[in-house]
Amino acid sequence: MTGQLFAELQAELDERARQGLLRRRRLLQSPQSANIRADDTAVLSFCSNDYLGLANHPALVDAAREAFAGAGVGSGASHLITGHHQWHQSLEQALADFVGMPAALVFSSGYMANVGVVTALMRRGDAIFADKLNHASLNDAALLARADLQRYRHNDLAQLEGQLSVSKAPRKLVIADAVFSMDGDLAPVPELLALCERYDAWLLLDDAHGFGVLGEQGRGVLSHFGVQSPRIIYMATLGKAAGVSGAFVAAAQVVIDYLLQQARTYIYTTATPPALAAAALAALEVIREDEARRSHLRALIDYLKRHLQLQRWQLMPSDTAIQPLLVGENQEAVRLSEYLQANGILVPAIRPPTVPPGTARLRISLSAAHELADVQRLVGALKQAERELT
Ligand code: PMP
Repeated sequence: MTGQLFAELQAELDERARQGLLRRRRLLQSPQSANIRADDTAVLSFCSNDYLGLANHPALVDAAREAFAGAGVGSGASHLITGHHQWHQSLEQALADFVGMPAALVFSSGYMANVGVVTALMRRGDAIFADKLNHASLNDAALLARADLQRYRHNDLAQLEGQLSVSKAPRKLVIADAVFSMDGDLAPVPELLALCERYDAWLLLDDAHGFGVLGEQGRGVLSHFGVQSPRIIYMATLGKAAGVSGAFVAAAQVVIDYLLQQARTYIYTTATPPALAAAALAALEVIREDEARRSHLRALIDYLKRHLQLQRWQLMPSDTAIQPLLVGENQEAVRLSEYLQANGILVPAIRPPTVPPGTARLRISLSAAHELADVQRLVGALKQAERELT
């Protein structure tokens, strides 16, 4: 029996390898930053989601170290038993205030937050309307909720309205990434909210890539668009611009009260170490106060967009730190990524199924940790690649 299962698994792995789709991990041997050491080599990295360069910021490291000393390492239990530490509580209050929502709940990861919210609020017979380019965790969440899932073309408000207008579901939920993770463009949040109001639907926004970067003081996509509504359920992660780990959901008090009772990924898991909540609080302080990081990041984005003019590959339309370079074919994207790597620059090639077939791309991700010279080096290397790669 085991022999047959092993043979089947190996055959699948071999097939993936043949198609050039086998994924492998790099061994990181330094803190996350612009210049990292990976697989025993020093490289300039455009791979992380550490958009503000906080993952190794001394204020966060010190806050974590002090909290580890004071609160210990493990939380020891789930939140509803004895794992909910004062640090978690303070973080929830600070996050709710920061994004302008009545209450917040901290989860161990963004994946768990999305699954927890959607499965708690939606059930069989309800309807979920989801952008086709949403993050995988949101799609998985919809499937687990067993609600009717309808996906609309990326940012296609007319198609979404068509779906909403004929739905007879008792509860409706529209779900969108606020910043699309592989494209870098924004969801039309005010228009989505208007549709939700017209058709009495909830709106779940996943601001994993906007929190800390967009809006006044980095308060995220709601501040960016100047929208607020009790029908918005706002989710963001703490492992990207905030430089730590985990996620939170912010919403009306009754929604948060309900999630505390019903979100299975919140209830049936050990609370994260309290020191991570302390580090996230320190991150919030830097996010709020250190405007220079955001303006530096914006200058790098502007520079890249103005100077990376190529014939063969085009930057996709994005104003955020996620600047994908559309290549098209899988093998060409891989060859371009390998060419850059041979020149000491890491930019991941993103291929299907993460992105639609025929749209393989290099996902260039900029960070306030980069110097202008780093971006200039990337632009130079890509121009050289265009001349040299046949
Ligand atoms: N949502 C989006 C849009 C994401 O990009 C990610 C992370 N890649 C997640 C959710 C999941 O967050 P986490 O990594 O904290 O599980």
